[in-house]
Amino acid sequence: MGEVDRFDELSEKIHESLKEENPNMVSAILERTCFLKCTHCLYKKDHKTSKSDSENSDLTEVIANMMKQMPDKEDSPQDTDPMFLHEGRILQPWHFDVFEKIRAERSDAKIGLIDAGIYTKHIDLFKEKDIKLDWLDISIDGTEESHNTQRDPEVRKAFEIALNGLSHAREVTKSHDDGGRVTSLMTLTNINNADIAEVADLVFSENRTESAYDSDNDAYQNYVDELHITTMSPALPENVPLEISYEEMKVAWEQIREASEKHMNEDKNNIFLKIYRTEDLEKLASAVGEKKFYDAITNETVDPESDRYDEAIESGIGIIKFYIDGIPIQYYPSSTWPTETIHVDADSVYRAPHCQQWSLEELNAGRSVSGDDISKYSFQELTSKSSYLDAYQDTVDKYWEDFGKNYLLKEVESFRRIREKSFLV
Ligand code: SF4
Repeated sequence: MGEVDRFDELSEKIHESLKEENPNMVSAILERTCFLKCTHCLYKKDHKTSKSDSENSDLTEVIANMMKQMPDKEDSPQDTDPMFLHEGRILQPWHFDVFEKIRAERSDAKIGLIDAGIYTKHIDLFKEKDIKLDWLDISIDGTEESHNTQRDPEVRKAFEIALNGLSHAREVTKSHDDGGRVTSLMTLTNINNADIAEVADLVFSENRTESAYDSDNDAYQNYVDELHITTMSPALPENVPLEISYEEMKVAWEQIREASEKHMNEDKNNIFLKIYRTEDLEKLASAVGEKKFYDAITNETVDPESDRYDEAIESGIGIIKFYIDGIPIQYYPSSTWPTETIHVDADSVYRAPHCQQWSLEELNAGRSVSGDDISKYSFQELTSKSSYLDAYQDTVDKYWEDFGKNYLLKEVESFRRIREKSFLV
């Protein structure tokens, strides 16, 4: 069989598998405007509020309908409870209706929020409506200086707002015993790549506020339970100058090692490096050495007595997890993205990643203001009667044709390059 045939066979197999691997998460862009103008942000800068688009398209009912149809944990290919992620950009009072509706439809649903700290404006609403989040993620993108340079270069208040958000996080999240957690995602850029150790020291320090006091252990909880570090995927021209180079990835890796030595727990599940792009995988391979990288991704040790057993590669739906220097790396191949989430935009359209770089008007016209055809980023207009499984499977077909196959080709080539370099050492 020739190389082209082998690729076609692989492509067909993955496409078919994706259809069986429906996600157990809905993630929604519930508001398209934001109070910050972060330089690494993947959203177009001048989005206006999308409240009326959401009202006109019945977004709350659309989300509730999708959540209602998600399988229970026992029947889920992902083996998870149904999840809902409010992925931003900011929390608005009417979003509490969405949370309440989900809780009413699915008592087993887990609800998460990604926020920059401004959610604290609505702490009273959390209390009044008795909403506790299952997880809350607030980014700290470096030292105060770096965070403000990256996220709020003019007003320079973003760090203070984020830290205030972390301080209050335990007030709006469930307790540890009920599965609640607070996380922080740091997006690596060439502004903050040398700040990781300092960020880890901060987020894993005690949050000395009343809500973070754990009376069982007579101690304050840390600001966060987990620190996730990820690379930036530049979608807009203004993101590109921030992308880290090979050399900067080396610095970042040393920083991750330092942070892990101090703060990694025994189960190795509180600090992760998350990678989505093959370009960043190759940078990481170069930073640690291709041989070490290749050893890590081919370590399938099954003997529990072996000292390599704890760091054997694990693959799940849409994720490959491996360890380098004892640090977990989570790789999410872009080719398998549909398994991750049902991605609902503020106007109830099921859309592809990176759709945020255009306005809803452009996306609905299928054409950007600069004249590009962007119709492939919108898969399906959802209604309060849509079938979750049909919508998902239809999206898999469209995604595979327009994105997935190309990503797979890049992934195969990237791993081949790393493998070849590993033999040269
Ligand atoms: S990165 Fe988040 S906080 Fe910053 S502008 Fe974008 S949506 Fe807003």
